[in-house]
Amino acid sequence: MKKSIILLGATGSIGTQTLEILEQFPEAFDLVGISGGKQWEKLLDISEKWNVPFVFCDQPGTKTIPKSLDKSHFFFGEEGLSQIAEKNADIYVNAISGIAGVKATEEIIKHHGTNLCLANKESLVMKGLAIMDTIKNNSIQLFPIDSEHSSMASLLEKVQKKRIKKIWLTASGGPFRDATQHPLSSFSSLTAKDALHHPTWTMGPKISVDSATLMNKAFELIEAVRLFDLPPDIFEVVVHPQSIVHSAIETEDGNILMEASSPNMKLPIARALFKARGEEVPEEFSISPFSPFGKSLTFEAVDEERFPSLQLAKKALASGERACEALLRKNDELVEQFLNGEIFFGDILKGLTDTNE
Ligand code: NAD
Ligand code: MG
Repeated sequence: MKKSIILLGATGSIGTQTLEILEQFPEAFDLVGISGGKQWEKLLDISEKWNVPFVFCDQPGTKTIPKSLDKSHFFFGEEGLSQIAEKNADIYVNAISGIAGVKATEEIIKHHGTNLCLANKESLVMKGLAIMDTIKNNSIQLFPIDSEHSSMASLLEKVQKKRIKKIWLTASGGPFRDATQHPLSSFSSLTAKDALHHPTWTMGPKISVDSATLMNKAFELIEAVRLFDLPPDIFEVVVHPQSIVHSAIETEDGNILMEASSPNMKLPIARALFKARGEEVPEEFSISPFSPFGKSLTFEAVDEERFPSLQLAKKALASGERACEALLRKNDELVEQFLNGEIFFGDILKGLTDTNE
């Protein structure tokens, strides 16, 4: 049976890939609502192509809705977000980037005992304790889309929690991983153009910068602690530049289970969508497989002198949820300034460290 689905953040990188999967499986999903931030034309194109009954735009109603589209299908601003969250759907996908996505998660779980496929990591970093509480108390199912957490969730199905010795969270290391090419002294002149070239993943601008500073991994550590309700020191971050292994679980007996696949967000998205249907990903779905022949998979420690990000996350986790929120907000502010060309790369990490002292 078809499951109705509302996709928030439909115009972004995760949103676009979600639409591609929905297009491949028209028998499984019925898109009934979409949202977007600033890309109004793209939102209209999706709305027209998919003939969706609810379209929400973050910007209040200054936009022109073409005559061919039904005005009553459109909702705007903060009120619009509540209105679309109130609509009933079997599955919600939250692929909104940044803090705006947190409000969306809160609205969805406030209104529904439903299935939430969550890409917006800010939700669990900022409000993880409260969100996970509501989710448990209302039997809401949460399926992570972040690739590392998707793979951890899958590995955790195979291992009893009490047998876990360590969970390895892999990090690509970002475009400035190589200390000889990018010593600490060079950080003070690196710009957004340099940071937006991620070596293994194609992503939106904000998360690409966070990958370069390793703040993305810092937030993923907080996300994992909240999502799986495990102590922070059970997780260890390891730099794995090829981004083939997405996470690993080490058990008491010294065995390590790893999940490995080509870096392609479509796999974790498809997993979350089909899990929300109570199914495994169907046979017809596949991404291009990773072939191990002639390839090297390497693992190295995080250079904490150049990238103090994980220490900042651990400190925030020890201080509590407010500190996690403050770290995320400060990072957001600095990344925006960086993307606007107002500050250099080194100023992001310096700004975060100074605030934390
Ligand atoms: P993106 O910038 O490509 O897209 C963001 C989407 O959110 C767009 O549809 C945009 O219109 C919408 N949006 C932005 N601000 C909004 C606002 N104020 N109100 C309503 N909508 C708004 O981002 P992305 O790379 O697709 O990432 C989305 C989320 O998924 C982020 O939280 C990111 O951390 C997470 N994530 C992304 C990836 C990836 O590979 N792209 C991987 C893991 C997790
Ligand atoms: Mg990730």
